[in-house]
Amino acid sequence: MAFEHIAAGRSRLGKIPPPAWGAGAMAALALACAFFVSATAAILMVVAACACVWAARESQRYTISPRSQQGEYVGLADLAPLLEALPDPALLIDSEGRIVSSNAAARRQMRFEAHGQFLTSILRHPDVLDAVQAALREGAARAVEYETTTQVERSTRCYIAPVAWGADRAAMLVFHDQTARISTERMRADFLANASHELRTPLASLTLLIETLAGPARDNPADRDRFLGMMQVQADRMRRLIDDLLSLSRIELDEHVPPSDRADLVGVAREVVDTIGAVAGERNVRVRLLAPEAPLAVVGERFQLAQVVQNLVDNAIKYAPPGSEVLVEVAASGDRDEVMAAAGRRWDEAGRIAILTPEAAANRSYGYVRVEDSGAGISRRFLPRLGERFFRVERELGAEKGGTGLGLAIVKHIINRHRGGFFVESQTGKGSAFAVYVELAEEG
Ligand code: ADP
Repeated sequence: MAFEHIAAGRSRLGKIPPPAWGAGAMAALALACAFFVSATAAILMVVAACACVWAARESQRYTISPRSQQGEYVGLADLAPLLEALPDPALLIDSEGRIVSSNAAARRQMRFEAHGQFLTSILRHPDVLDAVQAALREGAARAVEYETTTQVERSTRCYIAPVAWGADRAAMLVFHDQTARISTERMRADFLANASHELRTPLASLTLLIETLAGPARDNPADRDRFLGMMQVQADRMRRLIDDLLSLSRIELDEHVPPSDRADLVGVAREVVDTIGAVAGERNVRVRLLAPEAPLAVVGERFQLAQVVQNLVDNAIKYAPPGSEVLVEVAASGDRDEVMAAAGRRWDEAGRIAILTPEAAANRSYGYVRVEDSGAGISRRFLPRLGERFFRVERELGAEKGGTGLGLAIVKHIINRHRGGFFVESQTGKGSAFAVYVELAEEG
């Protein structure tokens, strides 16, 4: 498709460019040569004139652009600031499919070398190329969604619109990154699917038990009691799941607002240890608190910190062997690295993972709670998945312990709200230690 406005001469272009003057002059010289010098010189002059015409066309292609509302032609240089102002990558493509302008976001993301190269050299998605054709040929605007998987998986929505360019058409492409939105949507959908699945399992057991009670076990008092006990277990499991799910969604609601209250970390841990004694006793596990006498003030919400310690101690009791001891340690420490060294690196052969790490900040000191048991420990390959909703090591190993798989996720979100850290060290055959740390409150 030719750029008719280029051929239209002075009235359309405003001024004839120097290479065109050169072409005219050479054509005249060629005629003179033909008459007075030689045919070879005339041919050479004609070739030079053609080169000048070609150069003129090329220079016009990249310097002449659409008519403004006032009727003048605007140079591409004048359009560039508009593209540059867009936060998303943007390209302007001429009628032959070449990139004639772009903004910094596009150059950074698409890594192309020079204007003038074809769009197809940097982007081959057929739907986008079809939409560009439609914009250039029919003046149709379209939006195309596509995925790329070069280094990371990325979802993009590309808006393609025709732009009047003199008598011709160009196409403007704006690329909007959708990766974050799509992955949030996927997470939400996965979460709903997982939650329904988790609730459906005890519900199915309950339905089966009711059917058995109403049928074969109806007249047998011993069976009836046994089935009622089993129903109680399943109903408890559903209640715990619902409680944990609600708790998690409440925590997430204000996760972006860090707490501004002060709480005593020693007091919180002591309260949990005192109230959990009965449950620990049933399992023949002793819970020992190792903490300073004086209160330890941290920036935090007392109720949520108690929920954190409670979940960690509950787990430790659940996985500790009968007759063993669970140790709950509370102490003040220094900055982020000092806490991790003090509370997270005690066993030489343990696997370790930071489930949550706060941003490094100068002059920030933390207080920590470390909950240690001497249970079976967690295999290294499962450590990265701790804190993931519904993840349970036992389920992976086919040996359910009846947990919800939400306890550590709750801890993670509460500590995230507190802008604190959460890590674990665990060694199979030795035990596990989970630790959380939050910022110490200033004195006074
Ligand atoms: P659950 O309700 O299943 O305990 P959590 O989110 O609290 O859910 O824990 C997730 C999984 O992490 C547990 O199912 C268990 O496999 C593992 N886990 C947590 N704490 C311990 C621990 N102290 N010792 C061994 N495994 C643990």
